[in-house]
Amino acid sequence: PTPELPQALAFLTMGDQCLLLSLIDQAISTSGSFCVSLELSCPDGSTRPVICSATVMIVGGKPVHLFGTMIETGPLDNAPNMTKDAAEMLVHLIIANRDLEQLALHDELTGLANRRRFNDILPSQIETARRTGQELSLILIDIDDFKSYNDHHGHPAGDDALRALGTLLNGILRRAGDFAARLGGEEFAIVLPTTGIAGAVALAERMRREFAGLRISHTGNSSGVLTISLGVAVTDPSIITGKMLIEAADQMLYRAKRNGRDRIGNLTLSSHPADLHIVR
Ligand code: GH3
Ligand code: MG
Ligand code: MG
Repeated sequence: PTPELPQALAFLTMGDQCLLLSLIDQAISTSGSFCVSLELSCPDGSTRPVICSATVMIVGGKPVHLFGTMIETGPLDNAPNMTKDAAEMLVHLIIANRDLEQLALHDELTGLANRRRFNDILPSQIETARRTGQELSLILIDIDDFKSYNDHHGHPAGDDALRALGTLLNGILRRAGDFAARLGGEEFAIVLPTTGIAGAVALAERMRREFAGLRISHTGNSSGVLTISLGVAVTDPSIITGKMLIEAADQMLYRAKRNGRDRIGNLTLSSHPADLHIVR
């Protein structure tokens, strides 16, 4: 919990604040969820019973969000009383729905968004970029020689490598709105709103360097370690749909593969000489 959390919980009685903080600590360390009866303290000194539930969302092995719900179970001004049992059932239903949503929109192996969520989000991000006159970049990532990695090191090791890449991508993205998804197999996508080609290429290069830096041994590979290739594309007046942006980034990814893998392909090679050292 952040230092602000106890302040945010000031509406609870003293004893319940301590209880809730320790439950939150426990939920974060065990990646679990909880459901507990608490009491709100009102300004007039009276208390009101509530049921509180919370669950931790894990992305790439890290707890990134704590979702909480609080439902009043005592007399409400304009609503019939909810019995404690009914409130508990409602809370469990909310948790179950959230878990379902998590399953439907996230990739199970890496915890990143899945292709379905990517397909949902990209068009609206592009529309926002177009409306606000800002650029939006897309990075497509594909692990190099991954079939032979699975053949040499086994499928479970392949799964570990996919998880490691998911964690790394998630750790590199810092700005609100930046978004990583596993599109399927060993292919990932990064959406970067309000980011032009120079920023996206710099970030792509950092991803390439840090992934190679994990030094995941690949005995069937010329460099001896597992690497990624990346294709970068940015919206411009002629690229106005998600499909067009994906095709552009995919072409650049293909270029990176054709030029020898473990590198970045991007379109602005000639117009941005500064990028030349990156596209080797
Ligand atoms: P390239 O450098 O051209 O990308 O070659 P590649 O071998 O990576 O590409 P290819 O598309 O031929 O092979 C992709 C492989 O990724 C095939 C499959 O063995 C592996 N793969 C796909 N999904 C998973 C997964 O969920 N887990 C594991 N362990 N391997 C996967
Ligand atoms: Mg592939
Ligand atoms: Mg591949």
